[in-house]
Amino acid sequence: MRYVYDFAEGSNDQKDLLGGKGAGLGEMTNLGLRVPPGFTITTEACRVFMENGEGPEGLWEEIAGAIGRLEESCGRSFGGGGKTPLLVSVRSGAKFSMPGMMDTILNLGINDVVVKEIAEWAGRERVSWDVYRRFLQMFGKVVLNVPGEGFEEVLTELRQTRGVETDAELTAGDLETATGRFRSIIEEAGQSVPTEPMEQLRAAVNAVFSSWGNRRAVDYRRLHDIPGDLGTACNVQTMVFGDLGEDSGTGVCFTRDPSSGEPNPYGDYLVNAQGEDVVAGARNTLSLADLEDKRPGVHAELLGVMHTLENHYRDMCDIEFTVENGTLWILQTRVGKRTARAAVRLAVDMANEGLIDRRQAVLRVDPAVLEQLQRPTIAEDAGIEPLAHGVAASPGAASGEAVFDADRAVERAGQDVAVVLVRHETTPDDIHGMAAAQGILTSRGGKTSHAAVVARGMGKPAVTGASALNVDEGSSLLTVGDVTINEGQVITIDGTSGNVFGGEVPLEPASETPQLEMLLTWADEFRTLGVRANADTPSDAARAREAGAEGIGLARTEHMFMGERLAIVQQIILNEDPEVRDPALERLRAQQTEDFEGLLEAMDGLPVIIRLLDPPLHEFLPSRLELERERRQRAEKGQAPDDRIAELERAVAKWEETNPMLGLRGVRLGLLVPELYRIQVQAALQAMKRRRQAGGDPHLEIMVPLVSTAEELRRVRSTIEAEIADVFPDEAVEVPVGTMIELPRAALLAGEIAGVADFFSFGTNDLTQTTYGLSRDDADRSFLPFFLEQGIYPSNPFQTMDEHGVGRLVEMGTAAGKEANPSLEVGVCGEHGGDPASIALCHRMGLDYVSASPPRIPVARLAAAQAALGGGDSAGSV
Ligand code: PEP
Ligand code: MG
Repeated sequence: MRYVYDFAEGSNDQKDLLGGKGAGLGEMTNLGLRVPPGFTITTEACRVFMENGEGPEGLWEEIAGAIGRLEESCGRSFGGGGKTPLLVSVRSGAKFSMPGMMDTILNLGINDVVVKEIAEWAGRERVSWDVYRRFLQMFGKVVLNVPGEGFEEVLTELRQTRGVETDAELTAGDLETATGRFRSIIEEAGQSVPTEPMEQLRAAVNAVFSSWGNRRAVDYRRLHDIPGDLGTACNVQTMVFGDLGEDSGTGVCFTRDPSSGEPNPYGDYLVNAQGEDVVAGARNTLSLADLEDKRPGVHAELLGVMHTLENHYRDMCDIEFTVENGTLWILQTRVGKRTARAAVRLAVDMANEGLIDRRQAVLRVDPAVLEQLQRPTIAEDAGIEPLAHGVAASPGAASGEAVFDADRAVERAGQDVAVVLVRHETTPDDIHGMAAAQGILTSRGGKTSHAAVVARGMGKPAVTGASALNVDEGSSLLTVGDVTINEGQVITIDGTSGNVFGGEVPLEPASETPQLEMLLTWADEFRTLGVRANADTPSDAARAREAGAEGIGLARTEHMFMGERLAIVQQIILNEDPEVRDPALERLRAQQTEDFEGLLEAMDGLPVIIRLLDPPLHEFLPSRLELERERRQRAEKGQAPDDRIAELERAVAKWEETNPMLGLRGVRLGLLVPELYRIQVQAALQAMKRRRQAGGDPHLEIMVPLVSTAEELRRVRSTIEAEIADVFPDEAVEVPVGTMIELPRAALLAGEIAGVADFFSFGTNDLTQTTYGLSRDDADRSFLPFFLEQGIYPSNPFQTMDEHGVGRLVEMGTAAGKEANPSLEVGVCGEHGGDPASIALCHRMGLDYVSASPPRIPVARLAAAQAALGGGDSAGSV
């Protein structure tokens, strides 16, 4: 088994072994681009390291061999010794990009002797001390775990003494001083940096492998569903120097705009700097247009490289480059991360340009990100003056309390408070706070800074580089001009425009992405799974239809019994006297008829499944505690007992259940208090009749919840059929009657139940609850988060369908149902109907449709198409 591959041996299909970065370096080397030579140590070596705490046998001999080849190919020497010294970078690079989450060490191979040789080679002493201090700083922090603040303090002090803004303005002497002081900081921490380059390399490779298991990497993987056992590769690459002077620099560019998807290259460039300066966002950057002004030759060559790479990968690429004394070097490329809007535009544009086909376009976009497109924006006429302006780093607007620390953001978010995390710049250690925040604001950094990249990945609005803001993390406040914002005060950021506002600004729902409709139309050509909506109101139904829903898969009717209608429902439940009850029933029927008419009108020509009442009866009655309090208060005030309260208390006691979710719900309630279902059915049929009279084309279907035996459904069905005959005495109208399958028994006896049903709709919320014996209302507060964190459950079964348990019941139930009744239509209407992984499962299990909430209709259309095409390929989507 080999563990080391020279770049020229790598290619894009070896991402598992060489990681994305290693594969990309191989690909670019073979394309003939100017890539500094180097080699990749495989993910397999990392896996051995994770298991044994050390690399595999023979690894170091292989690495020494690779270094020898490198020395030979570039005519330099690792460790100097008379020849031009070879310095290397050591970078992590996993199969899936995890920007900034793992470790990197640059300028490795330098020591007290080599530093002099570098000075000679570069012809400038300043360069060699800059390289040396950078090495100590990074090696100290990353490999030896010496806290980074000490190094930063030294640099800040030197800048202040010299009266300059940036490190680039420090002199050779300043940097030599910094080098000495960095060494003391490391020694004071009880550590030392090896002088022998091979020893430095060994320690750095081990640190890179260890960084696979650090907290931020683990958090990132959990957030992005990246398996924990893949390991990272480690790339060792000849250093080229962007910090040799005005003729040198470093940058990051994208072949198209990663924020909007517009077909214009986008990039950040820093003169006289090393790569980490761009990524850390520590200095404000120049644009590609500025680079064109300064160095037109380099700019033209870079555009050529972008063109080559985009055509080669047939996707938008993200490229890191360095200019060393006017020569362009390409350090890295990968398929670029992008916003949801850009993902859609890129896929559609590239298909229209013929770079990819429609099938690939549909597979390119991660369905889950389509929800992001619906993120709010600042209302156009808000007319509020921004406090400051920064870089529009990740689109969408967010309001929340300003919080200046990641842990505090998590704490406040845990109290259900919306927060905006405000930092100078973020580092990977802030990732948990970023995940908890609604939006991210930094005073430093460009579009490729850590904050920008991670926020885009998380689908959160972010504004970076708002340099007018004076962020004081220590005192938890920010000032801008004479305005001060303390922690806890609300601010609003607009990641689409880059504006920052004090206070809460009215937000507007997201606007359409013009290319989305095209992409979804293409998706519709491929998908075989139907997509319906869970919608309870005519406006939701209209919205869902506009988004492409092909009917209503679930109209829950319970909210129609709430609000001011509650009193009517209570009259029905509490009174046996027909003189009180009948008018109440009549009023409810009239109101329900209007509700249903609106739904049928909004979905004219398409199926509308109305589900009969589901929740436990006691939900319609006041709480026992409240009644008790009321009774006590009357007694304390010396008032006479109120008969109504006593009556309500008796009723509440009568219907009270210890486990209401396992009690008198759904069809059970329908059979026990038949009037409730009867008036609902009558109202639905009346609504249908009115729609027909108005010239409409209503397709009403009636669904019975929480069925566990065929007999329950048989009885309700005969009531429904009697009502149909009553409302339409002279014609045979078709009103399919079906059932939810949301209890394991119903799934197990699906064949029998299908004999009485025209359709099934799997209520996978309840089916998950009852299959696991896990309360859906308490799960998130109880042990579920712990189980997910510990990996005891691979994912949240209420979000993504549990394939092996719940999924098995769905599959069995579908097959048995369809066998017993070949015309049976089968769908899913639990939350899983809008979850891409669950939709793929539904496709494989042979369901006819999924039903999702209106914002997730586009998600479902795309996910269903990808399922039909055998799975998505949204590598660059974030
Ligand atoms: C379900 O249980 O999956 C379902 C759709 O019904 P509800 O969520 O209303 O119980
Ligand atoms: Mg249910």
